[in-house]
Order: sequence, then structure tokens, then C-alpha cells
Amino acid sequence: MRKYKPIELKLSPVPAEFLAETAVCPVCDQNYGVAIGRMGLRLVFQCAKCKVKFHRLARVEQFA
Ligand SMILES: [Zn+2]
Repeated sequence: MRKYKPIELKLSPVPAEFLAETAVCPVCDQNYGVAIGRMGLRLVFQCAKCKVKFHRLARVEQFA
């Protein structure tokens, strides 16, 4: 039996300037992703339609 510990995503709060960010969902291919958190330099989005989570690299200087 394989033991698999699910990796907890440690999300930082989305910087205010990214709260309105949207991204194209890779699953339903529509612009439904809304920023739900930040992981390092990546913004984590969740599709409002199919609930898929995905991330996108953000521009470094905007987190400075
Ligand atoms: Zn989707």
C-alpha cells in the first residue's frame, strides 16, 4: 500500500493589486479563473466554473 501525503498548498494572500486578476482556465479554456492566493511568485487561480486550480507566474517586480 502506497502512502501518499497530500501536499498542502501554502498560499499567501493575494496582493491587493491582483485581486481583480483573471486567467484563462486550462480546462474549460475560458476566462474564468480568479486569484485565490499566491505561492512564491505564482498566483494561484481557481476556475469559477469547473473549480480547477492552476497557477501562473506573475511579474516579479509587482511583489516587491
Ligand atoms: Zn474551468
